[in-house]
Amino acid sequence: LLRVHDVSASYAGLVTVLDNVTVQVPRGRTVAVVGESGSGKSTLARVITGLLPPLSGGVMFHDEPLPPALANRDRQALRRLQMIYQMPDTALNPRQRVRDIIGRPLEFYLGLRGAERERRVRELLQMIELDPDAFADRYPGELSGGQKQRICIARALAAEPDLIICDEVTSALDQLVAEGILKLLLRLQKELQVSYLFITHDIATVRAIADEIVVMHNGRVVEQGTKAEILSPPHHDYTELLLSSVP
Ligand code: ATP
Ligand code: MG
Repeated sequence: LLRVHDVSASYAGLVTVLDNVTVQVPRGRTVAVVGESGSGKSTLARVITGLLPPLSGGVMFHDEPLPPALANRDRQALRRLQMIYQMPDTALNPRQRVRDIIGRPLEFYLGLRGAERERRVRELLQMIELDPDAFADRYPGELSGGQKQRICIARALAAEPDLIICDEVTSALDQLVAEGILKLLLRLQKELQVSYLFITHDIATVRAIADEIVVMHNGRVVEQGTKAEILSPPHHDYTELLLSSVP
């Protein structure tokens, strides 16, 4: 589904932040990218979403290069890759009601309007376990952190993506709320067959959600494999450190 090959990247030509990174996400699988702060995880997400052009290497999605050539840059190509971030506060427009936050991508990507759009907004709210009657009219300022993150998830789902890049989506939430979000993402994966590239530095999260694991350290992939391979010895020294830092 997604193939990042030999990507190197840096900010403003300074230090290399990604060094020859290769990562694959098979269809319907969840690949966790783990690594300590500063190891380049978010930079990898930036390269995949086209915010940062790589110095070398490239990204293929559905066997097409990303970002797509100008001629192929249609809504359907954009629709299939969505992203969710750590801070739902900064990702939501405070002046938009929930109905419009979720409704806009429905219009933009799927051309849904009026009653059709409203019906789908309500379905998506139910999917993320928020009561449509209670939440559709609210502004982000009237939501808890966990509810905001659910709205971000619903907005991503509105586009009917095949792949969602999740960058530390539970890190800003307290533990119970984070567990609720994880459960929701797991359920959605089963029901919708969506794939995740799941960036985190939390091993418990990885255990819960990953099929495969990529371990990053200093901008390099130091280890990758199935969850069973990575979480059972022997490991790369850094993986060892990461695992042993968890109770
Ligand atoms: P975290 O777990 O803290 O989110 P990360 O693995 O996502 O860390 P990145 O955000 O990818 O790490 O950062 C990798 C390196 O790139 C760091 O050394 C960081 O200081 C540097 N960096 C990140 N963003 C920029 C930027 N906009 N300009 C210059 N350097 C940056
Ligand atoms: Mg990051």
